[in-house]
Amino acid sequence: MTDTPADDRSSETAREPAWFAACQVNGAPGVDHAAGPRGTLCGIAARCVTYYLHLFEPEALQSCRRCRHLAENTPPGPSVQERLHNRVLAATGGPARDDLLAALRRGAAVTLWIDGPARSLTRSYAALDELSEGKEPAARTLLAAETIGLARVEADPWRFLVVLPGDGTPPLVARGPHPRP
Ligand SMILES: [Zn+2]
Repeated sequence: MTDTPADDRSSETAREPAWFAACQVNGAPGVDHAAGPRGTLCGIAARCVTYYLHLFEPEALQSCRRCRHLAENTPPGPSVQERLHNRVLAATGGPARDDLLAALRRGAAVTLWIDGPARSLTRSYAALDELSEGKEPAARTLLAAETIGLARVEADPWRFLVVLPGDGTPPLVARGPHPRP
């Protein structure tokens, strides 16, 4: 009796299918689209869409068929934690960055990761008032940007906000106390 040789299955199951935030086109409610880096996957510009804090569900009745096709044909990639970890490596060093990297390696929940117009994402998702570390630089970057990526990671006792500028400048990590129920 020999041990089964290590296969790829464990790392395979750790990978998730590609996922996308849901969004709707302004003035055309009722249809969910998948949000890509510059708007919907089916080609509607970011400035025309409103983003939602839930994932695009390709199978759902209200989902755009073209987005569904494109989402289902996007190859699975590394887990969301791994992808965010690799982006955060470029952030300026500090306790918040280091704690976030450690949390992502432990598989902390990435509850939001979207790209879009900076002003509306800031208004809807940044929760700057809840930040206790890194608030000023994050706010400055958000104010100056046209489009931005935002990620949120829940890792008790912290809630992290990652600001991912689209212009190639390093990400910023901010955090505040994790809200208690
Ligand atoms: Zn669509």
